Amino acid sequence: MPRRNGMEHKALQFIVTMGNDGVLQSELWRKLDATSREGSRIALKLEKKGLIRRERELCEGRWTYRLYPNRQPPSINSIIDCPCLMCPEDSRCGAWSTISPNNCRKLTNWILGIKEEEMNPSGDS
Ligand code: SF4
Repeated sequence: MPRRNGMEHKALQFIVTMGNDGVLQSELWRKLDATSREGSRIALKLEKKGLIRRERELCEGRWTYRLYPNRQPPSINSIIDCPCLMCPEDSRCGAWSTISPNNCRKLTNWILGIKEEEMNPSGDS
């Protein structure tokens, strides 16, 4: 049992690292040193848990599956323009402080996707 869970975990990690390119089922089992039967069972389990999706693909004249992760780990690009990263109030900001993310307009606007120029078209601060 622990071996199979370990295999599932390793399989999922590998599928996630392949990202949008996905990975052929056979390639994954070679990488994990698993049999195709064992591998198919793991892929089905991961799909049932909603962690991956399988898409049929014709490869060298044989039907197989390409496995894709349903979720990607967040990338640094998703927070690169977060106002907190360059905020002069950073050291004084905290959940229970007067300056707080709970009532920060800059952060709220960033989360909602509202650009500062849209809030203040004249450029006044
Ligand atoms: S929540 Fe607002 S005040 Fe606090 S660090 Fe982020 S941008 Fe600055």
